[in-house]
Amino acid sequence: MSIPKDARINLSPEDIPKKWYNFAAEVPDIKPPINPGTKEPAKPEDFEPIFCKEIIRQEGSTERFINIPEEVRDNLIYLNRPAPLQRAYRLEKALKTPARIYFKREDMSPLGSHKGNTALAQAFYNADAGIHTLTTETGAGQWGTALAMVSNLYDIKTTVFMVKGSFMAKPLRKTIINTYGATIYASPSEYTEFGKKVLKEHPDTSGSLGIAISEACEMAAKDEHTCYSLGSVLNHVMLHQSVIGLETMQQMDIGEIDPDYVIACAGGGSNFAGMVLPMLGEKMAGRKFADTQFIAVEPKAAPSLTKGEYKYDYGDTAGFTPLLMMYTLGSDYIPSAIHAGGLRYHGMSPLVSAAYDRNLITARSYDQTQTFEAGLMFARTEGIIPAPESCHALKAAIDVALECKEKKEEKDIVFCLSGHGLLDLYGYEQYMDGTLPSSDRNDL
Ligand SMILES: *Cc1c(COP(=O)(O)O)cnc(C)c1O
Repeated sequence: MSIPKDARINLSPEDIPKKWYNFAAEVPDIKPPINPGTKEPAKPEDFEPIFCKEIIRQEGSTERFINIPEEVRDNLIYLNRPAPLQRAYRLEKALKTPARIYFKREDMSPLGSHKGNTALAQAFYNADAGIHTLTTETGAGQWGTALAMVSNLYDIKTTVFMVKGSFMAKPLRKTIINTYGATIYASPSEYTEFGKKVLKEHPDTSGSLGIAISEACEMAAKDEHTCYSLGSVLNHVMLHQSVIGLETMQQMDIGEIDPDYVIACAGGGSNFAGMVLPMLGEKMAGRKFADTQFIAVEPKAAPSLTKGEYKYDYGDTAGFTPLLMMYTLGSDYIPSAIHAGGLRYHGMSPLVSAAYDRNLITARSYDQTQTFEAGLMFARTEGIIPAPESCHALKAAIDVALECKEKKEEKDIVFCLSGHGLLDLYGYEQYMDGTLPSSDRNDL
């Protein structure tokens, strides 16, 4: 027996896209960010204390394609791009489905997730603008890890504020971030005025993403050679992640795959946007994907698309960031402490929100007990332990494949495996020993 052609579809380095795709070109009429002080549409200058010029330009751009700088393209090799598109033969067999299931392997980056795609671009533009330090926040740790790694490629220093609760619970993340040479503080910290204020009022707090964002922004705003970097939600992040979908479209051409379903998990929306929005652009132009369904998958603990409201809301809990027009559960919403830390966000990317509002995509949500069950099945069939976040996309792919079995339909399902779970094994341990709480509980 020979290996089937579509078992793994690889591209060569020269196939790495030369341009990013910008979905803002398809929805130029979406409502702009609002300055929280003036309540007027935010001006580019409003972002200058924390972002460099090119990032601000990309954030507001409605150009359909934006050139990827040669140096960024070259360095995508260090993230193991192009990433393979692989077929899950053994999973299909275990499910006894006539459907074909393919997955895009963002887990193959040395960082273990897709987050490096934007970290790399952001570090490049900041270094180019003479910035010597980037600050950021991290919840579960994937984003801080990504920025710490790529800053070495451009000789930038990185300071990460990690939510204190996660900092204590996941000590290996600190080790990884320090190994890459970055500085990491448990937030709230003694290193910012805001952190000191919170510590004085609540000395025992375990912190929050909102507090960590505030600390990182404060540090960036204080020094003209320091900027802030965000790992999801904003338009420029969706832009940089489009390499995922642009590569996948080339691979589907090679494999003659005409997908009936394209699926990705959605926290702030960046891996979903990266995978799906380039395809949606083709669909809106009437070229391809006429019958493709695009599905965003959320946790029941933070169902911003399926249960949220489409309105202006703050990006952070403290209310310092511009107001964004997005699906949101309210900036004061605190999701229960599920293992899929990357999906614990109250809002959704404005671009993904616009696509949902226009009925161009659909969404569904799952409890974490269901998603870990899917993850275990994937580990035992395909040999890969998916990140708890990615298990959401996987679970939806499995459900769709089972519907195909019911209806005896031979459909093509493509999902984004946004990362591996080798640094999140505690959730798997809880699932296996029967102590994994449902997402509805707040006491993990
Ligand atoms: C951060 C993260 C996510 C969620 O973030 P998005 O911006 O919605 O993509 C999903 N999967 C993994 C592995 C992550 O690290």
